[in-house]
Amino acid sequence: MRPTFLQPLFAELSSLKGIGPRMNTLFTRLLDRPGEIKDPRKIDLLWHFPSGVIDRSNRPKIKDLKPGELATFDAVTIAHKGPKSRGGRGQKSRFSKAPVRVRVEDSTGELDLVFFRADASYIERQLPIGELRYISGRPELYANNLQIPHPDHVMTSEEFENFPKLEPVYPMTQGLTGRVLQKAMSQITPSIPDLTEWQEKHWLAKQNWPDFKTALTQIHRPDKLEDMSASSPARQRLAYDELLAKQLSLALVRRQLRSKKGRSLKGNGRLRDKIIKNLPFTLTGSQQSALAEIYSDMASDNRMLRLLQGDVGSGKTVVALLTAAVAIEAGHQVALMAPTEVLARQHIETLEPLCAAAGIRLGLLTGREKGRARKQLLLALEEGLIDCLVGTHALFQSDVIFKDLAFAIIDEQHRFGVEQRLALQAKAGPMGAELLVMTATPIPRTLQMTHYGDMDVSKLTEKPAGRKPVNSRVIPITRLEEVIEGVRRAIQQGTQVYWVCPLVESSDKVELAAAEERHAHLTQLFGNKIGLVHGQMKGPEKDSVMARFSSGELPILVATTVIEVGVNVPNASIMVIEHSERFGLSQLHQLRGRVGRGEKQSSCIFLYTPPLGATAKARLEIMRETEDGFIIAEEDLKLRGGGEMLGRRQSGDRAFRVANVPNLEELIAAANDDVKLILNEDSELKSPRGQALRTLVYLFECDEAIKLFRAG
Ligand code: ADP
Ligand code: MG
Repeated sequence: MRPTFLQPLFAELSSLKGIGPRMNTLFTRLLDRPGEIKDPRKIDLLWHFPSGVIDRSNRPKIKDLKPGELATFDAVTIAHKGPKSRGGRGQKSRFSKAPVRVRVEDSTGELDLVFFRADASYIERQLPIGELRYISGRPELYANNLQIPHPDHVMTSEEFENFPKLEPVYPMTQGLTGRVLQKAMSQITPSIPDLTEWQEKHWLAKQNWPDFKTALTQIHRPDKLEDMSASSPARQRLAYDELLAKQLSLALVRRQLRSKKGRSLKGNGRLRDKIIKNLPFTLTGSQQSALAEIYSDMASDNRMLRLLQGDVGSGKTVVALLTAAVAIEAGHQVALMAPTEVLARQHIETLEPLCAAAGIRLGLLTGREKGRARKQLLLALEEGLIDCLVGTHALFQSDVIFKDLAFAIIDEQHRFGVEQRLALQAKAGPMGAELLVMTATPIPRTLQMTHYGDMDVSKLTEKPAGRKPVNSRVIPITRLEEVIEGVRRAIQQGTQVYWVCPLVESSDKVELAAAEERHAHLTQLFGNKIGLVHGQMKGPEKDSVMARFSSGELPILVATTVIEVGVNVPNASIMVIEHSERFGLSQLHQLRGRVGRGEKQSSCIFLYTPPLGATAKARLEIMRETEDGFIIAEEDLKLRGGGEMLGRRQSGDRAFRVANVPNLEELIAAANDDVKLILNEDSELKSPRGQALRTLVYLFECDEAIKLFRAG
């Protein structure tokens, strides 16, 4: 269990003063824990770092105030001007049209505070006549007089006591104010416990890093502007803490996995030979070497846990099939899991002819197989009449029972969490299943260790022969008509087009509306041959649209991001991506990977809505310049920092919470060395430092390692 002295940090935010259900919902949204059952906790807010700071160290007298210069000063209220409070809450509107003016003075001069559309009675209570208040705001010149419209803060002397000279500014969500957040934060920071140091003393001294409590406090209560920088000692220390926690737990998990015996799966080649004979192409060198690595894992009696990394279109599916064939040759069953129904069905379509020729019996199970058909399928599975079951999350259902599952393949791993990985393996009974995970998200070398340190990695670096580069263009939405004309010419020549509408974070509804609107627009222009797929469509409906697009019946497919991963329609050689400035690099790369799969020259048009921010511009520039997923991933890392790289939305696993620093690579390397030393000297984490390191692992909630602690 989590050490008791950490419990206060993990208390729910709603236990704080001033955070009721409404605020709690806003904090949940801000702290982005969708799908996680628990409410946001204090620690989640502590990991929410400021993005900037407002310098409130300027403390002049009234006569020294300058227009445009943020100032904090004390003054006594001498008059309220403008509309009087009309009293009573029963009034139709307490808000006056004319501004409320409050005259304040100190020993050096006077000035007006101005409130537009304000509640006069509230202001009278805030600034009672004859009383001293501390005011912070930006003076403006109005008709030759200095005034402060809407001061940022009006405080009593008591409130002012804790007022920082540097006010941190946090990333926000709509409806939440900085003040509410700061109030919550100021209740939390004093309760950060003093923890036994887990970092090595000499290292800490050499780096000149503060202790954990000091570091975290400094982030939220910076003393100097430098404290805000990502290379400040406080940030560096916390980033290192997180990296060390992650690396350490991955190392523990890896050690545990390696200690388990796996199955030795060896085939006799009878199925593989038939499959290879029927392939319309020869395997690339990368495919062959990946296969050799996987075969050798399967044959050994260690537990296999291997990641197959290969860019979109690099040909992972056939590798999966050929490895599955080994398990089937050896007399066992295989599960192949895809993240979406569309992909599961597509796998079936690709695999069916090859499997039929080889005599491999396939089954399909998604949320849509129901009733009698489902029952029959499950029966066949349990009797061993199905060799390979392809499906979605539906494979986890408790009544899905294999006769003898020995090999599990998970496609597009970033959509699945580790928990699910384990759930699938549990279907294999006490012998367990060998696991192959495939991902099309190229992971920069730097992050490979931190995110997949528990796995062995094979890479498909070669593209299948005959691929032509995609012609990528970046075009402002103001030139939409031109783009539409281009699309018209292309479809007249029989080319098919993907038209992707934006993913608006946090709002599937808006995303849908955008896609529907574009669909209506294009239908108006091109007639009724435009398909539309989106995430909220029912399965059969979606399939039928996809099938009509695959068969060439529909020239244009308008889609939300459901087509993101894995969809394969070689005749579709044009892709238009609206609001491409809103997508991350890896997502754009995934999307673009849908085209460039056939004989024709392909193109991808990145539409954007000006003006483009610097980062968005850099992103689109990279997309135009390269198609190499590994380069794109490295650039993505540079632009976004590690935390965003495999955003929680995508990764299933939690991404970094605090390790967003420019020198990530260097810190990871150091943490790697550190972990090796730690486990060499104290493999059970029993020493005092070992105990402190356990605390660190709890603090960063590295759940898998925590499970190991519990197990013994
Ligand atoms: P991904 O790695 O994105 O899952 P797929 O396995 O879907 O890629 O392969 C993309 C396309 O490339 C498929 O049409 C597949 O048949 C084809 N393909 C795979 N391997 C080769 C190869 N060695 N030579 C030519 N085409 C190949
Ligand atoms: Mg694939």
